[in-house]
Amino acid sequence: MTQISSQRIKQIISAPPLGTTLEIKGWLKSRRDAKGFSFLDITDGSCLQGLQVVADSGLTNYQEEIKKLTTGCCLSVRGVLQESPAKGQAAELIAEEITIHGWADAALYPLQKKRQSFEFLRTLPHLRGRTNSIGAMIRIRSRLSHAIHTFFQQHGFYELHTPIITASDCEGAGELFTVTAMDLAHLPITKEQQVDYSRDFFGQQASLTVSGQLEAETYALALGNVYTFGPTFRAENSNTSRHLAEFWMVEPEMAFCDLAGDMDLAEEMLRFVIDDLVTSAPDDLALFNRFVDKELLKRLALLQEPFKRLSYSEAINLLLTSGQTFAYPVSWGMDLQSEHERYLTDSLFKRPLIIYNYPKKIKPFYMRLNDDNKTVAAMDVLVPGIGEIIGGSQREERLDVLTARMAQCNVPQEPYQWYLDLRRFGSAPHAGFGLGFERLVMLATGLGNIRDVIPFPRTPGSAAI
Ligand code: ATP
Ligand code: MN
Repeated sequence: MTQISSQRIKQIISAPPLGTTLEIKGWLKSRRDAKGFSFLDITDGSCLQGLQVVADSGLTNYQEEIKKLTTGCCLSVRGVLQESPAKGQAAELIAEEITIHGWADAALYPLQKKRQSFEFLRTLPHLRGRTNSIGAMIRIRSRLSHAIHTFFQQHGFYELHTPIITASDCEGAGELFTVTAMDLAHLPITKEQQVDYSRDFFGQQASLTVSGQLEAETYALALGNVYTFGPTFRAENSNTSRHLAEFWMVEPEMAFCDLAGDMDLAEEMLRFVIDDLVTSAPDDLALFNRFVDKELLKRLALLQEPFKRLSYSEAINLLLTSGQTFAYPVSWGMDLQSEHERYLTDSLFKRPLIIYNYPKKIKPFYMRLNDDNKTVAAMDVLVPGIGEIIGGSQREERLDVLTARMAQCNVPQEPYQWYLDLRRFGSAPHAGFGLGFERLVMLATGLGNIRDVIPFPRTPGSAAI
């Protein structure tokens, strides 16, 4: 059985080779019996649409097998493609031979032909990919990933594989997953009654990465423009609809780039990947526009217009004069909560926003200090319906300012000597950002829960498969 010679329904439908013999392989969506023959609706995951197969009672296994086929059975069909007399499809396959590969006991198979809730489908992560919506989501996810690589490769960025296990976390103190090879039942303990990580595999405490940024900076200051696109891990115990414990992040890092250039790149990248998706996946997007979010296509079109840019201070003023009552009261210096972001994106501007120049007190040490000595050159991209999708900054390239900031933020210098070396030797202005890939998939599909835009979501209390 070779994959290469079998034909995918997507290709067959896009240019039906009428009159030719071909073979399809897939899963049965539904069977409808008429007098002397049956219609089989078969999908193979290559596109939303199935191909209609006409199975005549003359087939040798018609009574014994074909009339017993139920939703979920796996089969291949060889036949001749013909023009279809029915509406809504150009072609149908007149079966000459049908081989059943796998039965699916109708009494036990949990997926039905009718629509099922996303909550229910979450209980079936191993089977939900066979539904229209999750199948479409995965195709969109794959296409977005492809477009991201295309965008960066076209713009002269090199892909950098940053480590997944790291001992150099910068911000996520409370959010780290420790990686250990020690026997947890017999931990070595120091005189100070602490776990003795010097006797662990790496000779020090190591964890799963929360971001590849710091490592990406090292290579931006060698190759100019680089990007990483890999999994990141955060043990934040927030059971929200937009946080996962394991998610994928796209992190470009650019030498000779300032905050304005960083914002330009973020905007251009989002526009490119969404535009690519709109042209390459119209059917899958139409499904989400119809069943999940009627404003989806309109909202995606908005991304083609320039994003609204405003400073953090302007945003605070707009919130203060909004006449709204927020659960978290607004004042300069606070971190924007999701209710504030949502007011700005969903109610006030109704389009994507970039907020920049945040107070230094709420941002990490590596963001470049502005001349006002109060704010740093940070930026967040916020989109309607979701909130923050990108967080980025110009990095502090001045050694003295950086070490002073580290002291203020209680960041020890000793483990960061390599990071400081980048400022000691051939430092350059540079900037970058992190795009949460699942938040992008939420934006592209209109799906409101991040658990539905990744094949196997990891959240507090849940990592079974
Ligand atoms: P948030 O405020 O939404 O928790 P953050 O400011 O902690 O996000 P950053 O450290 O700036 O996030 O990470 C960059 C991007 O990664 C975010 O803009 C977001 O798109 C995404 N992201 C961050 N945390 C998560 C998570 N737990 N699950 C999924 N995506 C995330
Ligand atoms: Mn952020």
